[in-house]
Amino acid sequence: MKPFTHVIPVSDALRLVREAARPIERRERVTLTDAAGRIAAETLTARADVPPFDRAAMDGYAVIATGTDGATADAPRRLQMAGVTYAGDAPHAAISPGECVEIATGAPLPPGADAVVMVEHTAREGADVLIREPVRAGRNVSHRGNDLPAGTAVMTAGQWLSPARVGALAAAGVADLLVFAQPIVALASTGDELVEPGRPLGPGQIHDVNRYTLPPVIAAHGALARHLPPIGDGLDAVHAALDATTGADLVVFTGGSSVGDRDLVAAAVAERGEIVFHGVAMKPGKPTLLARLRAEADAPAGRLFLGLSGNPTSCLANAYVILVPLLRLMGRLPAWQPRQVTATLGRDILARAERHEFHPVRMDGDTAVTAFKGSGEITSLSHADGYIEIPAGTGRLAAGTPVTVTLFSP
Ligand code: AMP
Ligand code: MG
Repeated sequence: MKPFTHVIPVSDALRLVREAARPIERRERVTLTDAAGRIAAETLTARADVPPFDRAAMDGYAVIATGTDGATADAPRRLQMAGVTYAGDAPHAAISPGECVEIATGAPLPPGADAVVMVEHTAREGADVLIREPVRAGRNVSHRGNDLPAGTAVMTAGQWLSPARVGALAAAGVADLLVFAQPIVALASTGDELVEPGRPLGPGQIHDVNRYTLPPVIAAHGALARHLPPIGDGLDAVHAALDATTGADLVVFTGGSSVGDRDLVAAAVAERGEIVFHGVAMKPGKPTLLARLRAEADAPAGRLFLGLSGNPTSCLANAYVILVPLLRLMGRLPAWQPRQVTATLGRDILARAERHEFHPVRMDGDTAVTAFKGSGEITSLSHADGYIEIPAGTGRLAAGTPVTVTLFSP
């Protein structure tokens, strides 16, 4: 075993992550059904006006606005009803002064009409309609092209496709579009001791936890996890696994990233690329490793490798702090803004001054209570509702201190 020689602050690690991350250039075509949450890779222009015709924005009567001037409840204007138009109907024939058309929201205005009187401001008398309030021209009309005039951009490349932006594409009649591909993450757990849940444990064996904690985090931040089989603790096994990462944009291995005799991940990675950092002053999660693997045909710039501690709590803490920003940069997503609440610390926390601490807490009303047991105990996180970050140099955090809790729930 050899100690970590160069442990860097979390802020430096995050800067190196930002410098190393390359936004995905690959594009793919998706239908609108699959577009939400993706990043547009093309600018799309409305080919035709939206809406394609002047249409009623209210249920009522399509009128010639000047014909309603001076109308009051006591002295209404009397118009003759020429017909009815529902949404989906072709427009009624043109109306002349003295006429109106009953019209439903979304129905096309008849030629000649320039306003809609709300049904609430009218009364019916046989074939006549009494208008009890004047309207101005344009009132309650959604004009042709008012939403999106033909020739204007519905969506620009690089925009995140919110439900509303997908809706704007639908309104413009777009059925599919180019989006940036999601980063593909080749993911594997290392360790001779690991066994899939559902299988019995032999002597010295434990169940693989990280295989189940990382994929949902990866998926929640716009990337695709591709599983490799668990990797045994041997240099050849690690190399063989790295050989199987073709097509991935990022390789994430958990475990074996520390400095023990069997921690061969760093050694294997160093043989096939360049270590960006190995060792971050973070608790838990010190043995974090970032590297750029040497160029391959499918990754001319070399794919990134992230090695995370095998300890389940360290691994997941690393994922929140380092993997998430990396994935979002690669996937061109806006920076993560997790849900945070302010709380009061319930008990003193004795933080290690030399490390940035990711400290799991349980919420008890407005009080944040420490939930940290140890880096290897997944219940450090499963019994927590979120975490507080205690910057290096802080040391003791006294009970009663206001803290910001980043919540795990969306
Ligand atoms: P390592 O980082 O490989 O030195 O592992 C540190 C600790 O985490 C050891 O106790 C391992 O048994 C445990 N560990 C490693 N990988 C996993 C995993 N995928 N699931 C659960 N525990 C793990
Ligand atoms: Mg191990």
